[in-house]
Amino acid sequence: MSRVRSEQLFSDAKLIMPGGVNSPARAWGSVGGSPIFLEKAAGSSIWDVDGNELVDYVCSWGPMILGHANPVVIDAAIDAARSGTSFGAPTELEVEMSRRVVDAVPSIEVIRFVSSGTEATMSALRLARAKTGRNKIIKFRGGYHGHEDALLVEAGSGLANQGIASSSGVHPGYAASTLVSEYNDLESVKGLLESNPGEVAAVIVEPIAGNMGVVLPVDGFLEGLRSLTREHQCLLIFDEVISGFRVALGGAQSTFGVTPDITCLGKIIGGGFPVGAYGASAEIMSEVAPLGPMYQAGTLSGNPVAMAAGIATLDELGKPGVYQDLQIATDKLANGVTNVFAKAGVPAVINRACGLMTVFFSNIQVTNMETASATDREAYGVFFHKMVDNGVYLPPSQYEAWFISTVHTERNIKLTLEAVERSLIG
Ligand SMILES: *Cc1c(COP(=O)(O)O)cnc(C)c1O
Repeated sequence: MSRVRSEQLFSDAKLIMPGGVNSPARAWGSVGGSPIFLEKAAGSSIWDVDGNELVDYVCSWGPMILGHANPVVIDAAIDAARSGTSFGAPTELEVEMSRRVVDAVPSIEVIRFVSSGTEATMSALRLARAKTGRNKIIKFRGGYHGHEDALLVEAGSGLANQGIASSSGVHPGYAASTLVSEYNDLESVKGLLESNPGEVAAVIVEPIAGNMGVVLPVDGFLEGLRSLTREHQCLLIFDEVISGFRVALGGAQSTFGVTPDITCLGKIIGGGFPVGAYGASAEIMSEVAPLGPMYQAGTLSGNPVAMAAGIATLDELGKPGVYQDLQIATDKLANGVTNVFAKAGVPAVINRACGLMTVFFSNIQVTNMETASATDREAYGVFFHKMVDNGVYLPPSQYEAWFISTVHTERNIKLTLEAVERSLIG
């Protein structure tokens, strides 16, 4: 498989863009080597600039749940674009889109659209502080919520309570107001709430963690967060930027039956265009300007092209059987991969949810960041490169999810399993 053109572009790009990329995960830093540059995509396939076709399990990190260049979504976007791409004034499309989200997501009565998942979580924190008059936030180690300052805190276990930023340049004042708990560990949350009485505005959590690899909430975890936050009169924020419209139309909150106070959305909601959103009850959302005193705005928010693509995407996802089929495809892939690893005698833990999975090179169950970190990342890097050589594009990091779309076929899965076999045994 030639990569000459990708390699040339990467060396050009590195001179004029930091690390040659516009988002760090794209640079293959944790698996090594030179990233492939993509030229086009259709359905479950991507093509790089050297003409290689690969089965894609990154799917733009989730948005392309209907596959790339879905004709219905593309037509909707093109139609909207022909009528103007941005007005900075209200449109009917925003009303249509809002209605769909409000109907689908249990916790959302009123919604505000923004342009990215980062803006959604950033605004949700501001809203929680505005509503409660408190300043501290609890997040989970290994939870990713975009690159908002207060959330770029991940601290190792010993430093967990001290709010040490995991990025340079974060104002220590922001970092200090962020407390870090362990995922799936209610006691750690309870401890922080009790040692910071009356100070915590919100607990923010991915109800299905997707950014330490896929990690599911253990029984009672989300329910426990719900009752602890009620008890301490702080808000529960579900960051459903990955799980929203992926595990079900109503997100993880509908599958687990736990209703947060504020929900953050992104990725799928824009149908491949830049959109995020946050929503809550009408009462909480009445804090948001122009209705209330919490200011939040955006020139391109509710952009008509993105709204049209989002509407088309949600309408497709709302058709009967879509999630059942996606779950079946996920199970086929995950079961198949499990079998191939077992046959090859390579230890692996495979976590999955509808349309999502991660293969951890590990022999212990992965339930939080600590156990996710105990995986053999070097082995993942070797596996990743062999998979690419065999025509399958996986996330270039052990700590990310494989995204399965509604158009990944039986044939794709068969080819993928053959590639896994060759990568492990060949
Ligand atoms: C991707 C992601 C974000 C950030 O979204 P961007 O659109 O990249 O800013 C926030 N939360 C979660 C759970 C994510 O996976």
